[in-house]
Amino acid sequence: MVEILCPHCEGEIELDDDASGTYICPHCDSEFEWGFDDFHIPKSKSEKPWFIIAGILRIFYKIQGLMFWIAAIPVILFLVVIVFVCIFSD
Ligand SMILES: [Zn+2]
Repeated sequence: MVEILCPHCEGEIELDDDASGTYICPHCDSEFEWGFDDFHIPKSKSEKPWFIIAGILRIFYKIQGLMFWIAAIPVILFLVVIVFVCIFSD
């Protein structure tokens, strides 16, 4: 037997070790799937560091992109002002 927690009410449910399929929680009468997740648990655990690294990289690139625009906007405005001054200075 294996003890699991209901995904709906977190009540303890006992299932067979090789149980898989759709079950009804005896605590809250909600349906949940069990067994298919067995294949995903080790995979998601091994993938977790990559998700963290990917998340950090994504934040890093977002900050980098933001920093680029923070630096670029005054330069662009400055160039636009210079162009306008040159055109209308006569
Ligand atoms: Zn439940």
